[in-house]
Amino acid sequence: MRLGAHISTAGGAYKAFGRARDETCDSFLIFTKSNRQWAAKPFTDDDITFYKNAVAEYADLKPVSVHAAYQINVASPDPELWEKSYQALKDEVERAGALGADFITFHPGSYMASSEQEGLDAIVRAMRRLLAETETTAPDTVICLETMAGQGTNLGGKFEHLAYILENAGPSDRLGVCFDTCHVFAAGYDIRTPEAYEATMAEFDRVIGLHKIRCFHFNDSIHELGTGKDRHAHIGRGQIGLDGFANFINDPRWADHCAHLETEPTMDGEDGLPVNMNHANLAALRALIKAVEEEG
Ligand SMILES: [Zn+2]
Repeated sequence: MRLGAHISTAGGAYKAFGRARDETCDSFLIFTKSNRQWAAKPFTDDDITFYKNAVAEYADLKPVSVHAAYQINVASPDPELWEKSYQALKDEVERAGALGADFITFHPGSYMASSEQEGLDAIVRAMRRLLAETETTAPDTVICLETMAGQGTNLGGKFEHLAYILENAGPSDRLGVCFDTCHVFAAGYDIRTPEAYEATMAEFDRVIGLHKIRCFHFNDSIHELGTGKDRHAHIGRGQIGLDGFANFINDPRWADHCAHLETEPTMDGEDGLPVNMNHANLAALRALIKAVEEEG
């Protein structure tokens, strides 16, 4: 797999490349604007030029995945908030498209005071319009719905939610799924043992189709299986554990897929000095790669 982490774009999106290299990434995840604000200054020609130069200079650092802002909610029953969310999501997709990013991942949304079905239909409406309106501005950027933990009225905690959206948005190679290990586990799908992992993958395949998984978020989970609580833990320090991640790392179906950490990049070590947790987590994941057995 192509492993990496969430990387800061402070000072310009192009700066993520050098940082990702320092963080030992093969691939990386960025926000292209403040993740808690609606509006963003459009990219300047220089922003794009610097970024494209970095793509050429760091040609082996790929794919690049973008994460959309958290407050976007295209499942909202409030027409004003829905339109505001839609425009923000469209802007995110077009920004990702301008950079030539491979993926843009967003949270499907929360149905709030409406119903699950109304929420799903609101997302479908957004996806249809989005595919049509970004056909030329982001033709090579795959729009990924993230699997969610199933907290509150959040949609995406059941594979069936994502299947419904993908089926009804119309067939498109530009729509896919970002599989977040912490969220899927918290939503009740076990991945800790080889048997549980295979059962979850078989279920995903039956309901959605494994070919729809385009990228991964690799986070361990502070909370137990099926609690619906979304709290990321460092790799091997949560309820999923190293054995769970070994199932993904050694699955040949994901050999070319990217997987990104979303945890805090540093924490205090026992001596009080900061530890680079991207280095630690990526090293822990790489140590799980099993040597391919010689055929004899
Ligand atoms: Zn995630």
